[in-house]
Amino acid sequence: RYSTAAAIEEPVTPPVKVGYTQLLIDGKFVEAVSGKTFPTLDPRTGDVIAHVAEGDAEDINRAVAAARKAFDEGPWPRMTAYERQMVLLRFADLLEKHNDEIAALETWDNGKPYEQAANVEVPMTTRLFRYYAGWADKIHGLTVPADGPHHVQTLHEPIGVAGQIIPWNFPLLMFAWKVGPALACGNTIVLKTAEQTPLSALVVSKLLHEAGLPEGVLNVVSGFGPTAGAALASHMNVDKLAFTGSTGTGKIVLELAAKSNLKPVTLELGGKSPFIVCDDADVDKAVELAHFALFFNQGQCCCAGSRTYVHERVYDEFVEKAKERAGKRSVGDPFRSGIEQGPQVDSEQLEKILGYIRSGIESGATLETGGERFGNKGYYVQPTVFSNVKDDMLIAKDEIFGPVQSILKFKDLGDVIKRANNSPYGLAAGVFTQNIDAANTLTRALRVGTVWVNCFDVFDAGIPFGGYKMSGHGREKGIYSLKNYLQVKSVVTPLKNP
Ligand code: ADP
Repeated sequence: RYSTAAAIEEPVTPPVKVGYTQLLIDGKFVEAVSGKTFPTLDPRTGDVIAHVAEGDAEDINRAVAAARKAFDEGPWPRMTAYERQMVLLRFADLLEKHNDEIAALETWDNGKPYEQAANVEVPMTTRLFRYYAGWADKIHGLTVPADGPHHVQTLHEPIGVAGQIIPWNFPLLMFAWKVGPALACGNTIVLKTAEQTPLSALVVSKLLHEAGLPEGVLNVVSGFGPTAGAALASHMNVDKLAFTGSTGTGKIVLELAAKSNLKPVTLELGGKSPFIVCDDADVDKAVELAHFALFFNQGQCCCAGSRTYVHERVYDEFVEKAKERAGKRSVGDPFRSGIEQGPQVDSEQLEKILGYIRSGIESGATLETGGERFGNKGYYVQPTVFSNVKDDMLIAKDEIFGPVQSILKFKDLGDVIKRANNSPYGLAAGVFTQNIDAANTLTRALRVGTVWVNCFDVFDAGIPFGGYKMSGHGREKGIYSLKNYLQVKSVVTPLKNP
């Protein structure tokens, strides 16, 4: 059923070289103060791609000092909004020009199919920077009617030095969601990339400087969470923290922020999103969309539709077809064309996913297809489908972050609403129906930050994204993200000098 040959064939040579491996501080590439490096691995083989400078607390100190100076004394917050806009637009042009090589680097470091990196992730990154370039000169306050003879206005000012910590599943897009709005508002930044995927952010940050970003405005530190990440979250000179990652780590960084200088924190955390297939569904279309909702990006999406709730009337047909679709998914070297699924990002994720698959089997769910590692080299997992999944099974409660679909049966809307909402998470949901009443009932009842009706994973730059409950605080993208990076200052002046 699987074309196992693809995974065990000799891997394709990546059509790109690693450009930068050092830390980017104050506009220059530098070694870590400690001189330490760590290897970043090719998930197709486990081989070392490059040794990357390993930043820790001392490097974070240096990076924050550079960002502070760039904010307090540098040109960036002082230049006209139009000039900042032009930097972002020139950067977007450079991203477009280097689209394919950036995509290749992303695939090499992360394992995602090159065609998706080149056609989706990098273009969406470019689009997002153009979107926020558009906002740069449209950020302004209000004049407020006063009770007395006062002229009252609000100034929307940049918040200062932003600390940003990103994950490995969409390294470039997460870079964009963080850096785009922060720069449009005139802030300076210290960004910590994920230790699994440090490479692409360094290359695009170099391009940002080519586009005219002044030195010190964007500092990029590669390194680990408990060292570099924690130092950033607890830094007294960082004015705002934006974090995307697991809910457990979100709790840690929120606490570090509170214990240090009470910097405001936005959190984009885990999820266990329901994908609800109603009784009127065209089953073939529902299967295809539910498959995409779960398996996209090797299942490594915080919003993955990882609880597939199917109405009992169409359940049996759905399960049969979902199994067939997963069995046909093309898995293999992400640089080969036509590949839908590459390796998971690292051995830790591989082991974690295989552990959840074992747990699914042990807890009595029916393994319809897959269930094992794919091939014997690299971190590939067979596309896996479980049916007869019950709400209290671990595979229906925990975020698996892998290509494992769990199908659950439901009776009516009241039943599925209760069960879909019975989760500590509230990031997203999918609803599949042509029945407008069912769609309206579900979209209003679901306690989640995004509901996709008859679509999934639509991530336009203007659409806000974020979670209810333990999926996070705040919204990224769109107009909503600007608020995370601005302070509001009220200025009151008597209308006539006393
Ligand atoms: P994942 O399970 O997706 O790897 P994490 O939450 O562990 O999610 O990682 C997301 C980001 O958070 C990464 O950049 C990681 O280095 C960072 N991180 C991990 N632990 C900490 C920590 N204790 N403090 C700050 N950042 C951390």
